[in-house]
Amino acid sequence: AHLDRIAAVDGAVHAFLHVSAEEALATAREVDARRAAGEELHPLAGVPIAVKDVVVTKGLPTTAGSKILEGWVPPYDATLVERLRAAGLPILGKTNMDEFAMGSSTEHSAYGTTHNPWDLDRIPGGSGGGSAAALAAYEAPLAIGTDTGGSIRQPGAVTGTVGVKPTYGGVSRYGLIALASSLDQAGPVTRTVLDSALLHEVIGGHDPRDATSLPEDLPGLVAAARAGQGGDLTGVRVGVVDELNGEGYQPGVRARFEESLELLRRAGAEVVHVSCPHFGHALAAYYLILPSEASSNLAKFDGMRFGLRVEPTEGTVTAERVMAATRGQGFGDEVKRRIILGTYALSAGYYDAYYGSAQKVRTLIQQDFAAAFEQADVLVSPTAPTTAFRLGEKLDDPLAMYLNDVATIPANLAGVPGMSVPNGLSEDGLPVGFQILAPARADDRLYRVGAALE
Ligand code: GLN
Repeated sequence: AHLDRIAAVDGAVHAFLHVSAEEALATAREVDARRAAGEELHPLAGVPIAVKDVVVTKGLPTTAGSKILEGWVPPYDATLVERLRAAGLPILGKTNMDEFAMGSSTEHSAYGTTHNPWDLDRIPGGSGGGSAAALAAYEAPLAIGTDTGGSIRQPGAVTGTVGVKPTYGGVSRYGLIALASSLDQAGPVTRTVLDSALLHEVIGGHDPRDATSLPEDLPGLVAAARAGQGGDLTGVRVGVVDELNGEGYQPGVRARFEESLELLRRAGAEVVHVSCPHFGHALAAYYLILPSEASSNLAKFDGMRFGLRVEPTEGTVTAERVMAATRGQGFGDEVKRRIILGTYALSAGYYDAYYGSAQKVRTLIQQDFAAAFEQADVLVSPTAPTTAFRLGEKLDDPLAMYLNDVATIPANLAGVPGMSVPNGLSEDGLPVGFQILAPARADDRLYRVGAALE
């Protein structure tokens, strides 16, 4: 049914870069046969899933939305993909994204943009617009995203779907094509909070192949979602972050947010206001740290090891000239912009002024979170300041595009988990997201509060 739906609507939505129909059907049939034989399988066995194209999948093309990886078929699976396969989830295909996950609109994909199913003239969010649009268009019931600065949560908000960025280290990064290693996390993209909890438990947990993977077991996420479904939040302290709400947020976004606070109060939660004074600097720090790490991570795309290789058209062929020609053609403008920014910020003489300062701001943001979590069990805000903007509207203005991430970026800088749940429609008839943040390792709180709001 999902393959039929993809065939019917993906021409207009363009959520997928690759559809693995044969493989998905084979897995589905195998799961059916095992169930018929009486085997006890995972509750999600047989439920198809779409995977963001930045996640390495054995035998399926993986481009990260870039021309530089066109035609590359990985010889191995990411840990999270191994876990999906082991649990019996058929992989429907790979979803579109901004090149190397740099963007908030999916317009930076080298393979064309994805359209928001709510209004095809609008962006589906980014960088994981393909995964969110696949859910919103009913092309897939589950998807995987990655979130370095909001790429799971902001697409969730603008497409009316659920997106979860787990605690840093909670889901293995082995087999994710790294954007910024200290910020990247993979997580669930679903239509309900319970679905996210089920999926999170499949993909999460310790992995010895990721040096930053947390050693302990995940807290009970499905149990927390089920507890929240009862709608009772008595005793839960909910902190409204004053810096992530107010000026710059669209009126309809603020109105829906206020209504949800009222729902939380009615469910028994105590709503308090907290201040995180350094959050105003999070965006600036992020856009130094991310390009710095990205410029280093992307150095491996040199025309020698993966995907595209372009020989210089004239003159002698040297390694350096092959690299220059390959990167010149293989990387898009946004990727080049960030590599230049990052190498500049890291260069001798500027390191202390830029990268060093940004790291200090990062510590201050972590301290803001620590203080806020003394006053509240979870923190909340709108996920994004606006609803989906029109395709092309911010493409020529990188700063305007970056500003869409103000509310999502602090969580990545501090490594704490975050969730976006659908929060009704704004005055323009488009979906709004409600963001919930919890302390590191307390992802279960997101599920309890998120499920209560649903
Ligand atoms: N929009 C942010 C950026 O462009 C988020 C990226 C992400 O989470 N992958 O960097």
